Amino acid sequence: MALKYCQGPSCHQYTTQDRLRGTKGNKTFQTRRRTSFYYGQSNFCSLNCQNDWFSEYGNRAINHFGRLTEPKKLTEENAWVKDYNWRTNADDSHHYYYLNKITKEQRPITEEQYNDMDYELNTI
Ligand SMILES: [Zn+2]
Repeated sequence: MALKYCQGPSCHQYTTQDRLRGTKGNKTFQTRRRTSFYYGQSNFCSLNCQNDWFSEYGNRAINHFGRLTEPKKLTEENAWVKDYNWRTNADDSHHYYYLNKITKEQRPITEEQYNDMDYELNTI
């Protein structure tokens, strides 16, 4: 697997031993390089580096991809979520239903419908 660099703009400024590279008289602290990272879709070696990136580039990224200027709204038509009663019935089954998070209306569904990712009540 190819090695890649942590995208944290200040990664090299965290002076840990694993970042210290080079021979005597020619040592530098360097950006971490790994095959994969745990943070930020495998782009950052630590939450610090991820936060550093956002502090540096966050506003530009949000402006580039579209800043919200009005609230997004979940309407009655799109507020359906699948849920089930975790208590089992007498026959060892669960009570599955759709719940409208706004109106609180419940509509019973089968376990098959519950597990079917294509079965949707939401209209958008
Ligand atoms: Zn880093």
